[in-house]
Amino acid sequence: MSVLDVHMFPCLSDNYGVLVHDPVSGATASIDAPDADAVLAAVAETGWGLSHVIVTHHHWDHIGGIPKLKAETGCRVVGAASDAHRIEGLDEAVADGDDFALGQAALRAIAVPGHTLGHLAWWCPGGGVAFVGDTLFAMGCGRVFEGTPEMMWQSLDRLQETLPDDTLVYCGHEYTLSNAKFAVTVDPDNPVLRSRLERVVELRREGHPTLPTTMAQEKATNPFLRARDAGIRKALGLEAAKDWEVFAEIRSRKDHF
Ligand SMILES: [Zn+2]
Repeated sequence: MSVLDVHMFPCLSDNYGVLVHDPVSGATASIDAPDADAVLAAVAETGWGLSHVIVTHHHWDHIGGIPKLKAETGCRVVGAASDAHRIEGLDEAVADGDDFALGQAALRAIAVPGHTLGHLAWWCPGGGVAFVGDTLFAMGCGRVFEGTPEMMWQSLDRLQETLPDDTLVYCGHEYTLSNAKFAVTVDPDNPVLRSRLERVVELRREGHPTLPTTMAQEKATNPFLRARDAGIRKALGLEAAKDWEVFAEIRSRKDHF
Protein backbone atom coordinates (compact mmCIF):
# COMPACT_ATOMS: atom_id res chain seq x y z
CA MET A 1 0.00 0.00 0.00
CA SER A 2 1.33 3.39 -0.93
CA VAL A 3 1.42 6.20 1.57
CA LEU A 4 1.00 8.55 -1.38
CA ASP A 5 -1.91 8.86 -3.78
CA VAL A 6 -0.68 9.20 -7.36
CA HIS A 7 -2.57 10.63 -10.34
CA MET A 8 -0.95 10.35 -13.79
CA PHE A 9 -2.21 12.16 -16.87
CA PRO A 10 -0.97 12.67 -20.45
CA CYS A 11 0.09 16.14 -21.57
CA LEU A 12 1.95 17.90 -24.39
CA SER A 13 2.50 15.40 -27.20
CA ASP A 14 3.84 12.40 -25.28
CA ASN A 15 4.71 13.59 -21.75
CA TYR A 16 3.09 12.37 -18.58
CA GLY A 17 2.20 14.69 -15.74
CA VAL A 18 1.95 13.23 -12.24
CA LEU A 19 0.42 14.54 -9.05
CA VAL A 20 1.46 12.96 -5.75
CA HIS A 21 -0.70 13.59 -2.72
CA ASP A 22 -0.10 12.92 0.95
CA PRO A 23 -3.61 12.23 2.29
CA VAL A 24 -2.52 12.86 5.90
CA SER A 25 -1.33 16.44 5.49
CA GLY A 26 -3.00 17.29 2.19
CA ALA A 27 0.34 18.27 0.64
CA THR A 28 0.38 17.71 -3.11
CA ALA A 29 3.25 17.91 -5.57
CA SER A 30 3.37 17.93 -9.31
CA ILE A 31 6.32 15.88 -10.52
CA ASP A 32 7.73 18.33 -13.08
CA ALA A 33 5.56 20.89 -14.82
CA PRO A 34 5.29 19.97 -18.50
CA ASP A 35 2.17 22.06 -19.10
CA ALA A 36 0.65 24.38 -16.48
CA ASP A 37 -2.88 24.13 -17.85
CA ALA A 38 -2.84 20.33 -17.82
CA VAL A 39 -1.46 20.30 -14.26
CA LEU A 40 -4.09 22.81 -13.11
CA ALA A 41 -6.83 20.71 -14.72
CA ALA A 42 -5.55 17.66 -12.82
CA VAL A 43 -5.44 19.68 -9.61
CA ALA A 44 -9.06 20.70 -10.15
CA GLU A 45 -10.13 17.18 -11.06
CA THR A 46 -8.55 15.61 -7.97
CA GLY A 47 -9.40 18.48 -5.63
CA TRP A 48 -5.95 18.09 -4.11
CA GLY A 49 -4.59 21.64 -4.46
CA LEU A 50 -0.93 22.15 -5.30
CA SER A 51 1.76 22.82 -2.71
CA HIS A 52 4.93 21.89 -4.63
CA VAL A 53 6.52 21.18 -7.97
CA ILE A 54 9.28 18.59 -7.67
CA VAL A 55 11.65 18.77 -10.62
CA THR A 56 13.51 15.85 -12.22
CA HIS A 57 15.48 17.95 -14.73
CA HIS A 58 15.62 21.29 -16.46
CA HIS A 59 14.35 20.45 -19.97
CA TRP A 60 11.55 22.76 -21.13
CA ASP A 61 8.99 19.96 -21.33
CA HIS A 62 9.54 19.33 -17.61
CA ILE A 63 9.74 22.85 -16.20
CA GLY A 64 7.93 25.06 -18.74
CA GLY A 65 4.79 25.24 -16.63
CA ILE A 66 6.51 26.41 -13.44
CA PRO A 67 6.01 30.21 -13.75
CA LYS A 68 2.27 29.89 -14.32
CA LEU A 69 1.84 27.26 -11.61
CA LYS A 70 3.66 29.47 -9.10
CA ALA A 71 1.59 32.49 -10.10
CA GLU A 72 -1.72 30.61 -9.89
CA THR A 73 -1.13 28.49 -6.78
CA GLY A 74 1.84 29.90 -4.88
CA CYS A 75 3.45 26.45 -4.93
CA ARG A 76 7.11 25.98 -4.02
CA VAL A 77 9.60 24.44 -6.41
CA VAL A 78 12.06 21.74 -5.37
CA GLY A 79 14.95 20.63 -7.57
CA ALA A 80 18.65 20.00 -7.99
CA ALA A 81 21.00 22.56 -6.43
CA SER A 82 23.39 21.98 -9.33
CA ASP A 83 20.70 23.15 -11.76
CA ALA A 84 19.62 26.20 -9.75
CA HIS A 85 20.85 28.45 -12.56
CA ARG A 86 18.57 26.82 -15.12
CA ILE A 87 15.41 25.98 -13.19
CA GLU A 88 13.42 29.19 -13.12
CA GLY A 89 11.66 29.74 -9.81
CA LEU A 90 13.57 27.14 -7.78
CA ASP A 91 12.83 27.60 -4.06
CA GLU A 92 14.36 24.54 -2.39
CA ALA A 93 17.63 23.17 -3.69
CA VAL A 94 18.52 19.55 -2.91
CA ALA A 95 21.37 17.16 -3.62
CA ASP A 96 21.87 13.42 -3.92
CA GLY A 97 20.50 11.53 -0.93
CA ASP A 98 18.43 14.38 0.45
CA ASP A 99 14.95 13.55 1.69
CA PHE A 100 12.25 16.07 0.86
CA ALA A 101 9.24 15.95 3.18
CA LEU A 102 5.96 16.13 1.29
CA GLY A 103 3.71 16.27 4.31
CA GLN A 104 4.27 12.96 6.11
CA ALA A 105 5.93 11.28 3.13
CA ALA A 106 9.63 11.41 2.36
CA LEU A 107 10.79 11.68 -1.23
CA ARG A 108 14.48 10.91 -1.68
CA ALA A 109 16.57 12.56 -4.38
CA ILE A 110 18.80 10.15 -6.29
CA ALA A 111 21.34 11.81 -8.59
CA VAL A 112 21.19 10.10 -11.98
CA PRO A 113 23.39 12.17 -14.32
CA GLY A 114 23.57 11.34 -18.00
CA HIS A 115 20.46 12.60 -19.82
CA THR A 116 21.34 15.90 -18.14
CA LEU A 117 24.06 16.42 -15.55
CA GLY A 118 21.67 17.57 -12.84
CA HIS A 119 18.96 14.94 -13.37
CA LEU A 120 17.33 13.61 -10.20
CA ALA A 121 15.13 10.57 -9.73
CA TRP A 122 12.70 10.80 -6.82
CA TRP A 123 11.95 7.74 -4.72
CA CYS A 124 9.43 7.37 -1.92
CA PRO A 125 10.91 4.40 -0.01
CA GLY A 126 7.90 4.15 2.28
CA GLY A 127 5.43 4.34 -0.57
CA GLY A 128 6.91 2.01 -3.15
CA VAL A 129 6.88 4.59 -5.95
CA ALA A 130 9.61 6.35 -7.93
CA PHE A 131 9.57 9.17 -10.47
CA VAL A 132 12.47 8.83 -12.84
CA GLY A 133 11.90 11.60 -15.38
CA ASP A 134 13.81 11.01 -18.60
CA THR A 135 16.45 8.68 -17.15
CA LEU A 136 14.59 5.37 -17.26
CA PHE A 137 11.69 4.56 -19.56
CA ALA A 138 9.68 1.39 -19.99
CA MET A 139 12.10 -0.82 -21.96
CA GLY A 140 14.17 2.29 -22.71
CA CYS A 141 16.22 5.12 -21.29
CA GLY A 142 16.79 8.78 -22.03
CA ARG A 143 19.24 10.01 -24.63
CA VAL A 144 22.65 10.89 -23.26
CA PHE A 145 22.66 14.64 -23.87
CA GLU A 146 25.06 16.00 -21.25
CA GLY A 147 26.83 13.09 -19.63
CA THR A 148 28.80 10.17 -21.03
CA PRO A 149 27.48 6.67 -21.78
CA GLU A 150 29.51 5.35 -18.83
CA MET A 151 27.90 7.93 -16.52
CA MET A 152 24.41 7.08 -17.81
CA TRP A 153 25.02 3.36 -17.32
CA GLN A 154 26.14 3.97 -13.74
CA SER A 155 22.99 6.02 -13.09
CA LEU A 156 20.72 3.30 -14.51
CA ASP A 157 22.61 0.57 -12.68
CA ARG A 158 22.28 2.53 -9.47
CA LEU A 159 18.52 2.74 -9.97
CA GLN A 160 18.20 -0.99 -10.47
CA GLU A 161 20.32 -1.64 -7.38
CA THR A 162 18.46 0.90 -5.24
CA LEU A 163 14.80 0.53 -6.14
CA PRO A 164 13.08 -2.64 -4.89
CA ASP A 165 11.57 -4.90 -7.56
CA ASP A 166 7.99 -4.02 -6.68
CA THR A 167 8.57 -0.24 -6.96
CA LEU A 168 6.03 1.41 -9.24
CA VAL A 169 8.08 3.49 -11.66
CA TYR A 170 6.63 6.59 -13.31
CA CYS A 171 8.50 7.86 -16.39
CA GLY A 172 8.39 11.21 -18.15
CA HIS A 173 7.15 10.00 -21.53
CA GLU A 174 4.99 7.42 -23.28
CA TYR A 175 7.77 5.95 -25.44
CA THR A 176 7.05 2.34 -24.55
CA LEU A 177 5.92 0.96 -27.91
CA SER A 178 8.88 2.25 -29.92
CA ASN A 179 11.22 1.21 -27.09
CA ALA A 180 9.79 -2.30 -27.16
CA LYS A 181 10.14 -2.57 -30.95
CA PHE A 182 13.79 -1.62 -30.57
CA ALA A 183 14.40 -3.83 -27.53
CA VAL A 184 13.55 -7.03 -29.42
CA THR A 185 16.29 -6.22 -31.97
CA VAL A 186 19.04 -6.40 -29.32
CA ASP A 187 17.42 -9.01 -27.04
CA PRO A 188 15.76 -11.27 -29.63
CA ASP A 189 15.59 -14.45 -27.56
CA ASN A 190 13.90 -12.98 -24.48
CA PRO A 191 10.39 -14.49 -24.22
CA VAL A 192 9.33 -12.12 -21.43
CA LEU A 193 10.20 -9.17 -23.67
CA ARG A 194 8.29 -10.67 -26.61
CA SER A 195 5.11 -11.09 -24.61
CA ARG A 196 5.48 -7.63 -23.11
CA LEU A 197 5.73 -6.16 -26.61
CA GLU A 198 2.47 -7.87 -27.56
CA ARG A 199 0.77 -6.51 -24.46
CA VAL A 200 2.04 -2.99 -25.16
CA VAL A 201 0.79 -3.11 -28.77
CA GLU A 202 -2.64 -4.03 -27.40
CA LEU A 203 -2.63 -1.30 -24.72
CA ARG A 204 -1.63 1.42 -27.20
CA ARG A 205 -4.15 0.24 -29.78
CA GLU A 206 -6.83 0.82 -27.14
CA GLY A 207 -5.31 4.17 -26.16
CA HIS A 208 -4.25 3.10 -22.67
CA PRO A 209 -1.05 4.24 -20.93
CA THR A 210 1.67 1.63 -20.49
CA LEU A 211 2.92 3.19 -17.27
CA PRO A 212 3.69 2.96 -14.45
CA THR A 213 6.07 0.06 -14.85
CA THR A 214 7.88 -1.88 -12.11
CA MET A 215 11.58 -2.42 -11.51
CA ALA A 216 11.05 -6.18 -11.77
CA GLN A 217 9.51 -5.76 -15.20
CA GLU A 218 12.33 -3.47 -16.35
CA LYS A 219 15.05 -5.78 -15.06
CA ALA A 220 13.48 -8.56 -17.12
CA THR A 221 12.87 -6.63 -20.35
CA ASN A 222 14.76 -3.34 -20.52
CA PRO A 223 17.95 -3.84 -22.57
CA PHE A 224 19.48 -0.67 -21.10
CA LEU A 225 19.48 -2.33 -17.67
CA ARG A 226 20.64 -5.67 -19.02
CA ALA A 227 24.17 -4.95 -20.20
CA ARG A 228 25.37 -7.93 -18.15
CA ASP A 229 23.00 -10.34 -19.87
CA ALA A 230 24.82 -13.08 -21.78
CA GLY A 231 22.18 -13.29 -24.51
CA ILE A 232 22.35 -9.57 -25.26
CA ARG A 233 26.15 -9.58 -25.23
CA LYS A 234 26.15 -12.48 -27.66
CA ALA A 235 23.59 -10.82 -29.96
CA LEU A 236 25.81 -7.72 -30.06
CA GLY A 237 29.10 -9.62 -30.39
CA LEU A 238 30.33 -7.95 -27.19
CA GLU A 239 30.90 -10.94 -24.92
CA ALA A 240 34.11 -9.51 -23.42
CA ALA A 241 33.18 -5.82 -23.25
CA LYS A 242 32.69 -3.78 -20.08
CA ASP A 243 29.09 -3.35 -18.93
CA TRP A 244 29.03 0.32 -19.85
CA GLU A 245 30.42 -0.45 -23.29
CA VAL A 246 27.54 -2.85 -23.92
CA PHE A 247 25.16 -0.13 -22.72
CA ALA A 248 26.85 2.42 -25.01
CA GLU A 249 26.41 0.15 -28.03
CA ILE A 250 22.72 -0.37 -27.25
CA ARG A 251 22.22 3.39 -26.74
CA SER A 252 23.99 4.15 -30.03
CA ARG A 253 21.84 1.63 -31.93
CA LYS A 254 18.68 3.10 -30.42
CA ASP A 255 19.78 6.61 -31.42
CA HIS A 256 19.82 5.43 -35.04
CA PHE A 257 16.82 3.10 -34.88
ZN1 LIG B 1 14.62 15.51 -20.87
